[in-house]
Amino acid sequence: MKNPIQTPEDEEMQAIQTSLNGSPCASCGGKTRLAGIEPHPTADHTDLRTYECLVCGETSTRDVPLGTPKI
Ligand SMILES: [Zn+2]
Repeated sequence: MKNPIQTPEDEEMQAIQTSLNGSPCASCGGKTRLAGIEPHPTADHTDLRTYECLVCGETSTRDVPLGTPKI
């Protein structure tokens, strides 16, 4: 059963957890980890994240929209 009370902190933590564990490696299906984050060269409010496969070392980049900036 899901906890009916969920604070913004919890959601943020879950988002971080999800982002730290990248999707499975495209080459071997192994686990990937976040290797680096840099601003997207062309898109505003978007991060370009590099994920590195822990098994074969393959890297992949992904656009991650940052959503509405917090005030
Ligand atoms: Zn791999």
